[in-house]
Amino acid sequence: MEIVDKVKDSFPKDVIDRVELEGCEIVVYTKDKIFFLDANEQVKELVSELKKRIEVRLDNSMCDSPESAKEKITAIVPQEALIKDIRFEPERSLVIVTAGKPGLVIGRGGETFRKIKEDTLWVPKIERSPEITSNIVKSIRQLMTEEVKWRIKFLKQVGKNIFSEKTTNRDWVRVFCLGSFREVGRSCILVETPKSKVLMDCGINTGGSGSNMYPFINAKEFDLSELDAIILSHAHMDHCGFIPYLYEYGYDGPLYCTTPTLDLVTMLTMDYIDVMQKNATQPLFTAKGVKEAVKHAITLDWNEVSDVGPDVRLTFQPSGHLLGSSLVHLHVGQGLHNIVYSADLKFTRTRLFDPAFTNFQRIETLFVESTYGAQDDIMPSRMDAEEQLMKVINQTVERKGVAIIPSFAVGRAQEIMAILDAHKFEYPVFLDGMIWDATAIHATYPEYLSNLMERKILQGENPFTNPIFKRIGSQADREKSWVEKPAVIISTSGMMEGGPIMSHLQNLGEDKKNSLIFVGYQGEGTMGRRIQRGWKEVPINANGKTNAMKLELDVTTVGGLSGHADVKELINYINRLASKPERIITNHGENGKPLQLASNLHRLFRIETLAPKNLETIRLR
Ligand SMILES: [Zn+2]
Repeated sequence: MEIVDKVKDSFPKDVIDRVELEGCEIVVYTKDKIFFLDANEQVKELVSELKKRIEVRLDNSMCDSPESAKEKITAIVPQEALIKDIRFEPERSLVIVTAGKPGLVIGRGGETFRKIKEDTLWVPKIERSPEITSNIVKSIRQLMTEEVKWRIKFLKQVGKNIFSEKTTNRDWVRVFCLGSFREVGRSCILVETPKSKVLMDCGINTGGSGSNMYPFINAKEFDLSELDAIILSHAHMDHCGFIPYLYEYGYDGPLYCTTPTLDLVTMLTMDYIDVMQKNATQPLFTAKGVKEAVKHAITLDWNEVSDVGPDVRLTFQPSGHLLGSSLVHLHVGQGLHNIVYSADLKFTRTRLFDPAFTNFQRIETLFVESTYGAQDDIMPSRMDAEEQLMKVINQTVERKGVAIIPSFAVGRAQEIMAILDAHKFEYPVFLDGMIWDATAIHATYPEYLSNLMERKILQGENPFTNPIFKRIGSQADREKSWVEKPAVIISTSGMMEGGPIMSHLQNLGEDKKNSLIFVGYQGEGTMGRRIQRGWKEVPINANGKTNAMKLELDVTTVGGLSGHADVKELINYINRLASKPERIITNHGENGKPLQLASNLHRLFRIETLAPKNLETIRLR
């Protein structure tokens, strides 16, 4: 292979043992200790010349024995780093150090990291141990360890594809709109370049039925076996929900996403299977599909550049919308074309996240969402929203009542927790449904939260470990939460379509002292929407009978806490982009919003804008 030869030729012949591909990374194995420790400068030069990721490792026969290496690492790393686990991957000459404070394993300017490498001759990889126990995080890490041999083979195969000298007769860049165009749900875009085919997101329509539940993968332009990569922006079901299906039905290529996204996807898709089975509905995929997706995942940090096909280079950047959520930047060919797919974005600062990244050096085509893209989609300010929320909660506290907040497990719930923590709220806040697990995942990745939040967590002020937060893990816990007053209960489901929220309502709904606070969008036809609109009699199922319950508690809606940008933010975002796009494509909106936003943006920025329908193809160049 040309690239492997080039790398081999760049170093003295006698120091190289072998060159292996690990996904987009080129790994040079050596048996020369001096070369291993001194190659840094040479590697740096080569990386900037070839624009590829290269790492030098010592053949494991030369590394320290695991026992001795373990001892040395424990001695080198300060105790405050809270090392939880040290494990070895001899096949790749790696030592994985899991610690409560990974920063201390790296040390100032990488000092400690370098010392581990020099003294043990293993290449350290450092992971954060979750501050709150998370079974999801644990089981994913375990699976990756168990499958290490399989993963090495898989990464080699991915590398071979990325660096193949494939030729095709295509000289265009096109996109196929497979889902989420002029609708919200089942996001899916196929990008076809001269040498690669990549899929950006593959979600489901949770409210849909039959074939409109999933993207148009039956289109003849879509062939699973030709796909180089699936790139996932974030863990919402309308972006990720169909991915396990693709793995279950034959796709065996890589899935690129950030680490927290992978954790959340695993949690949410497993829960989806569970909910479907409880409703006696056939889920679209089984746990096997989820496991396969995890096994095939290649996680990237924000700002980490990675080749994902022979002529496509991917970079994720923060999108401000959800934990791990990313804008997708694709660099096609050698400067042939640059695509930014914004997926879902937020451009104001929230408690959890900084606004979406804008500093792209080049964008020719920008995909932008239009969930709130109509002219009059303007939200209350964040500050007003927080103030209103705290006011309603405090009034409930004064009445010695319970404030019930229906919320999805991921995102809004943690934002509310962060708001309560910031306002020094002192009463118990009960978390029901999957909220606790989702919170544990948030607490595991401070570097994916806002700078301010990250700093707080690193200083030991983790808002999520505030003792006011109490987990409801059983029916007995749930019953206890109804007695303690005043209190707040945050519970799934977010639109009151079943889940533990219903039993909270049943037990607290008839008391005037309590309140029900909507903090998120309530879909048409949902119980949440009906109550929001003034329904006072709610049917409650108990012991196989349905009774009408009279709602007496105070019902309030707090707007302005959405994870999506409103129309002002969207325009502001495009305005702030470091590179002005040549073309903007709108998607992810209902009721003519993509069209409205497209024409509005055309008028404002005097550039080509499009609001295509599903199944349309657009030639980008
Ligand atoms: Zn989303």
